[in-house]
Amino acid sequence: MAIISESEHRVFRGYTNSQFRYAAIYIIITLAVLSVLNIYCAESTQNLFFQSKESAMIEKCYLAADEIMKLDVLNTATVTATISRMDSLTATRLLVTDQTGLVIYDSTAADTGRYALLPEILRALDGNRAFTGNYHDGAIQSRAATPIISYGITLGCVYMMEYDTALGVLIQGLQTNIFRITFVLEILLILFSVIFAMRFSRRMRKIMASMRIIQQGDYTHKVSLGGHDELTFLGQEVNDLTERLNTSEDKRRRFVSDASHELKTPLASIKLLSDSILQYDMDMDTVREFVTDIGNEAERLNRMTAKLLSLTKVDGVVAQDCEIIHMAPTIERVVRMLTPQASQQDITIQAELDDCPVLILEDDLYQIVFNLVENGIKYNIAGGQLRVTLRREGDNAVLRVADTGMGIPADSLSHIFERFFRVDKARSRATGGSGLGLAIVRTIVQRNRGEITVDSVLDQGTCFTVTFPIFDTEEAAE
Ligand code: ADP
Repeated sequence: MAIISESEHRVFRGYTNSQFRYAAIYIIITLAVLSVLNIYCAESTQNLFFQSKESAMIEKCYLAADEIMKLDVLNTATVTATISRMDSLTATRLLVTDQTGLVIYDSTAADTGRYALLPEILRALDGNRAFTGNYHDGAIQSRAATPIISYGITLGCVYMMEYDTALGVLIQGLQTNIFRITFVLEILLILFSVIFAMRFSRRMRKIMASMRIIQQGDYTHKVSLGGHDELTFLGQEVNDLTERLNTSEDKRRRFVSDASHELKTPLASIKLLSDSILQYDMDMDTVREFVTDIGNEAERLNRMTAKLLSLTKVDGVVAQDCEIIHMAPTIERVVRMLTPQASQQDITIQAELDDCPVLILEDDLYQIVFNLVENGIKYNIAGGQLRVTLRREGDNAVLRVADTGMGIPADSLSHIFERFFRVDKARSRATGGSGLGLAIVRTIVQRNRGEITVDSVLDQGTCFTVTFPIFDTEEAAE
């Protein structure tokens, strides 16, 4: 219980927060980008207005300077007369100074006869045009000055100042609109980010909750997520994994119960036999017989555990360092090895082998052939025959192990490769069988890209057919 609540804690705090953390980072970044854009737009529109203001005011200043330059005498009367003739010369304030900065004309008449050493005037008296503008309290204040030059000599300057509230209102309106749009965009962004983060973490929580159910052992549970994004894909992957877990868990359970059942029988026999020896007065011959039986059962147990171990070994192995080998010599070796056993049971073995190079581990091939030939002897009848043939058929090497034995009933054929399956348990036990040999053979054959099939007619015989692709050259193997 403590583990569950701890994992819940982990799921709902860790993962949910991370989603909102990502959303917050995203919001902060876009907020910064939008703010920079906002400032840039406001500055650019302001600069645009200043540029147009500058060119208009400088033009007016030059116009006035051109007219004043034509005057023979430069004094308040002559300049006033000239300017009053120029209707286009509208400004909040207009000054005309001589070359020392002494005001000889002032449209407001406040500074005539005084020196006006404003920065723009000083620059103009240096022979340059000058402009400054600033936006303050919803109005634009701009100042421009140009020199009055005659034959290369600076006679004075024209200075103009405008205080434009209409333009100021326009700029303020524009900036307010840009700010409002940015604000609405940011609100929408926050809203969508939060909705998206909530949706994402809700779906994530669903997967986590499912995984906890699976973790508790319910392998039949399925993650059900709609949509077509990575999370849906993740859910499907979890479902596939659970299905595989379920299958292997089933197999494991079946294997453990089968194995314990199979191992129980010889153990029970040993216990029974040893109890009998201890409880009853027996003559030496009977004791020897019982002890021999105990030895046989122990040997069967030994064989069974060895096969079980071999089965777990072949189950786990996936890739092997195979090499091209010619099948015939290995098959001959198996036949040679089992011929004495066959002779004991009055069974003759015939082998007809073509040359077939295949890509396989020699140990694997040996184990396959050994199991099939041994079965062909074990489940044969006295005086029976066993035919081992290896044929090259198209691109395949086809190995057939056919006996004239007892055969397998049709309803057992589909179970023949299952672990611990035996047609006739009593007979199989008598021959030392464990029901694991064919399961091992099939696993090894499939692992080496081969196929195995069985045909059998009851009381007539059985034929196992194993097929591997032929590998003629080293290049083909690559
Ligand atoms: P076992 O160790 O019992 O032989 P196998 O997996 O090799 O285990 O075989 C499973 C069962 O299939 C055997 O118990 C036997 O009943 C049947 N079987 C296998 N080979 C033959 C055969 N050539 N003829 C008849 N029955 C066979």
